[in-house]
This record gives sequence, C-alpha cells and structure tokens, in this order.
Amino acid sequence: MPELPEVETVRAGLRPVLEGRRLREVIVRRGDLRFPLPSSFAGRLLGRRVDTIDRHGKYLLIRLSGDLIWLAHLGMSGRFRLATAEPDLWTHDHLVFVTEDGGRVVFHDPRRFGFMDLLATADLERHPRLADLGPDPLGPAFGPVFLSRRLERCGQPIKAALLDQRIVAGMGNIYASESLFRIGVSPFRPAEALARRGSRRLVAAIRSVFAEAIAAGGSSMRDHVPVSGELGTFQHRFAVYHRAGQRCPGCSCDIAVTGGIRRVVLGGRATYFCVHRQR
Ligand SMILES: [Zn+2]
Repeated sequence: MPELPEVETVRAGLRPVLEGRRLREVIVRRGDLRFPLPSSFAGRLLGRRVDTIDRHGKYLLIRLSGDLIWLAHLGMSGRFRLATAEPDLWTHDHLVFVTEDGGRVVFHDPRRFGFMDLLATADLERHPRLADLGPDPLGPAFGPVFLSRRLERCGQPIKAALLDQRIVAGMGNIYASESLFRIGVSPFRPAEALARRGSRRLVAAIRSVFAEAIAAGGSSMRDHVPVSGELGTFQHRFAVYHRAGQRCPGCSCDIAVTGGIRRVVLGGRATYFCVHRQR
C-alpha cells in the first residue's frame, strides 16, 4: 500500500509533467474506482490548467485553474505512470490524462481502492474525506503545540494515537513504530504522558522519519518515471519495523538472552519495539 513517502514521490514525479499545462484529453476507461468518478469528470477537467500539485497526508490535491481541486488517493494499489507517446494501455489502466504538450499520465489500479473527486477550492475543508483529517506531518500546522493538545485528551497508548488520522494525516504503521523508537518511547506509554514534555521530540522524530523515507523513496526512482506503490530503499533502514527477533541498532545486548526486537499487536496493528530502549 502506498504510504505518505510514496505519495510524495508520486507528487514529485507528476509535477514536471502536469504543472503549468492544460489538460487536452481525459480518457475514462473505467469510472468505478473505489467510488464512482464524479459526474462529468472528464468534461470538467478538460481545458483546465494544473497550477500546483499539493499533498495532504496520502491525498494528492491537484489545484486547477478556475478554483477547482482534483483530489486523488492511491488506495491499496493505485499508481500513476508517465508516457510520452500514445501509451500502450494495459489491463487496469483506468484513466489517461493528456496535456496540451503531449504529456500523458496513466492511472493504473488493479484493486480499485483508489479514488478521485473534484471539488471547489472553497469547499476543501468541508470535503468529507478531508474535514476530520489532521495536519500533514511535514506541513506548518503540525507542531508541538497542536500535538500536545491532541495527546492530552486522547486516552490511548501513544502508538494508537499516532495512527489516528485526525491527529496526523497519512501516518502509517511503519512510521509510527520508527518514530517512537527514535525517541525511546514505548508504544504502550499513555499518550497523555507525552503531551507536556514529549511532543517536541516526537514531532521532530516524525518529521525526520518521513523526510528520510521520502529521500530514500525518491532515490530509487530517480532514473525512471514515478510509479506509486513501490517502496524506495527506506525499508533497508528500518530500525524496528518488521525486524522481530533481530538486534536493534541502538543496543549491544545479547539477543539470545533478550529475544531482540519485540513484535506485539496493539490496537489490531503489528507493533515493533525494543524493550530496552523504549520505556
Ligand atoms: Zn534496543
């Protein structure tokens, strides 16, 4: 499933092809993704210029001329592929977007959990998918003051709180585990305990984990067109995630005795941590 760093990689890949260009042609080969496309989807996009492509959590916000936003979510298996000539279309290539200068972007989604919508810029904060979403972890609204206020009255273990999309938009299971490892906090610690003194360190850890993952995701895709849903190389740098029984990078203890990194299920999600470093 594409996580926030992969979505950011997609954004970076789409920008040079779409930004500043008008859409000349939109081909809908299949209109029922996770939800049906909004009515007149192709017609409403035609002739509009892509001004900027933003991201909020795992949502792409493609801002168009005429104060329209084209919202895209990759779901489980959605990916965008770039093509410079008439594309060879494959099974599951549901949408094709052609720019005025001949750029082609193909949306491919075998499982069709991805979706798209169109909304007026003024309605952005009221959109049902976005209204309750917390700030993007790399954006200006996500900071220690905000996080501390949210953790104070949350009543959950910190790991579960971090996965609450109302607190951090686009936070995924991998990045929650890795962030807590970096600050030596147990996933079971009550969120309230971090509200006062821990939120600054936690914000910094979350930002650095995402920034490093984005950099790693980008580097593996440098020489080919962006295809979402692929992990970059950050998986080789996980400290704890998916490393049960292995030595944690911060401990020199004997894993034959300690059992190494522990895997537990917390709030229904696999959670990885070091019992020595994370208290
Ligand atoms: Zn350790």
